[in-house]
Amino acid sequence: MHCRSNWQQNCKNAARNGHKWSEIRNQKSETRTQLSCRLHDGIRADVIFSAQTPACAGVTFVGVGSNMLRDASIKDVMNTAANWPQVRGTYRFDAPLAPTNWFGVGGPAELLFKPADTEDLAGFLAALPTDVPVLPIGVGSNLIIRDGGVRGAVIRLGRGFTGLSMHGDLVEAGAAVLDLHLARFAAEHGRGGLEFFAGIPGTVGGAVAMNAGAYGGETKDVLVEVEAVERSGRILRIPEAECHYSYRHYGGPEGLIFTRAWFRTEPDTPGAVHGRIEEIRAQREATQPIRERTGGSTFKNPPGKKAWELIDHAGCRGLAREGAEISPLHCNFMINTGTATAAALEALGEEVRARVAADSGVTLEWEIKRVGNVSPDL
Ligand SMILES: Cc1cc2nc3c(=O)[nH]c(=O)nc-3n(C[C@H](O)[C@H](O)[C@H](O)COP(=O)(O)OP(=O)(O)OC[C@H]3O[C@@H](n4cnc5c(N)ncnc54)[C@H](O)[C@@H]3O)c2cc1C
Repeated sequence: MHCRSNWQQNCKNAARNGHKWSEIRNQKSETRTQLSCRLHDGIRADVIFSAQTPACAGVTFVGVGSNMLRDASIKDVMNTAANWPQVRGTYRFDAPLAPTNWFGVGGPAELLFKPADTEDLAGFLAALPTDVPVLPIGVGSNLIIRDGGVRGAVIRLGRGFTGLSMHGDLVEAGAAVLDLHLARFAAEHGRGGLEFFAGIPGTVGGAVAMNAGAYGGETKDVLVEVEAVERSGRILRIPEAECHYSYRHYGGPEGLIFTRAWFRTEPDTPGAVHGRIEEIRAQREATQPIRERTGGSTFKNPPGKKAWELIDHAGCRGLAREGAEISPLHCNFMINTGTATAAALEALGEEVRARVAADSGVTLEWEIKRVGNVSPDL
């Protein structure tokens, strides 16, 4: 009843804010009360209360008109209908995304949600209208977010996903744990096998999504199982075999947000493992522009070849356009030297692909994920 009166208050508030509610109808059933609301501009929001909703979570959209994304933004619908969803994490509309990625580019997220924990994320996804697209991001070390921003909900995992613990020879890590912290945690417990993560500046979730790897090690070699939340809000576990990994590619069930993972380790001494971690870090520092605004390897290595050699041979080392540059230090790395837009970075990447194809006949495949809209109008 408490939630219901909140809802009614929200309707009144919405009306006071200039929204015209032409119809509010109650349909009582054994387990729920449904309030169907029709706005004069044709947007419909069917809102449900469920007496069985855990913790009286309040309001769940069950059928926002399918034209929602064309006719109204999530903000319109959420602001007009109710203060939904009630989450323990935080969400923000029109949230700038440039600060969330290594290149420092890109337009805003229509909605940026930072869940408090896995259950909070599951509740949010279950309540989110099914036609709203969802994009999980880690620390954006492998992303170009386009200048027009991202439609729908961007999910960024934070503090509630940074747990690390040992279970026999397995390390359990939250999806927001940095790869370096994962490697160091295993070392502190006298466990080896995860050292290669020390050179990858992403999160555990990003590593699982990308099959990240370095120095002969790949995520798939050490991953045992991963926990994920489906778009519907269902929480599930997937064994490594069902991730169908290949080089820098996850081929398992789609549309998942990874929340936790378990990694296999080998017994070793902390000193030896820490030593190998430091070696990897020193080598990185010497050979890669790791202090620049970059996205790591831009293109995948084609079978039997090295992308950087093809790029070098095509004369692209140091190639620069509108603030975007092919690193003179490592020519499979692109850099934002300060003023590049996402469009400039993408255009430079495409120019490199065209030059390499003309020079060697090889078509390079992007390793960096490019997401979002080129222009805000799309
Ligand atoms: C200097 C530098 C060096 C690098 N060196 C390497 C290297 O040696 N080897 C290597 O493999 N990579 C390397 N990278 C690339 C990058 O660090 C990895 O791909 C990393 O795994 C990306 O993690 P992230 O958290 O930054 O993910 P993001 O870049 O934020 O996202 C990458 C992809 O993963 C998805 N994703 C992220 N989190 C989740 C989640 N929780 N659930 C579902 N999907 C998710 C995103 O939707 C996106 O498609 C390097 C990058 C830089 C900048």
